Amino acid sequence: MAKIIDLQKYRKQKESSFWVENVENLIEGHLKYRCPYLIYEIVYSNSMYHNLGLCSCKTKGKYKYATFKFSRPFFEACQKTGNYDDMWDTVLHEIGHAITYYAYGAGHGHDKVWKSIMMMLGGRPEKSTNAEFFKPYRYIYKCPYCGNETKTLRKYMKGVACGKCCRNYNGGAYSTEYILDLICDEGKVVQSW
Ligand SMILES: [Zn+2]
Ligand SMILES: [Zn+2]
Repeated sequence: MAKIIDLQKYRKQKESSFWVENVENLIEGHLKYRCPYLIYEIVYSNSMYHNLGLCSCKTKGKYKYATFKFSRPFFEACQKTGNYDDMWDTVLHEIGHAITYYAYGAGHGHDKVWKSIMMMLGGRPEKSTNAEFFKPYRYIYKCPYCGNETKTLRKYMKGVACGKCCRNYNGGAYSTEYILDLICDEGKVVQSW
């Protein structure tokens, strides 16, 4: 029987394998000698929009573990725009966390120790990656009461109210007073404030 290849799917796999392989190589290259006994895994999340990367570490018995989690939409956006610097910055940032944990234990966050590791790696010792261009949301809603802005990918149903205000001022019950205004629709500003 003929094998039907879903070209779209095939191309997608091929495209994404470009950075998957490179991210793996970068991580392995840095950790191989510096953290020889670290057990790590790399995970790509389809729903990570607020964090570009995360590194969670733990110790179990005599082994240290690290999980690298990266935002697939972010990496795909990097590939689309050719902006690989932000991608490598993000990966290096998380490698810095893993090395810091391996060598100095937990609780360092973005402190001096982590910063010095970042300098050694040749990465930017900054708290977050500069990814200004990464704005995958399509809608922005604003609460007319507290001014809180919510960025979403999906359009809300009409009449969705600000959860924070309903909680804080209405005992958690829904109130039309706090109905969110749509201020940005598919990138177009609906109303300026
Ligand atoms: Zn960090
Ligand atoms: Zn509010």
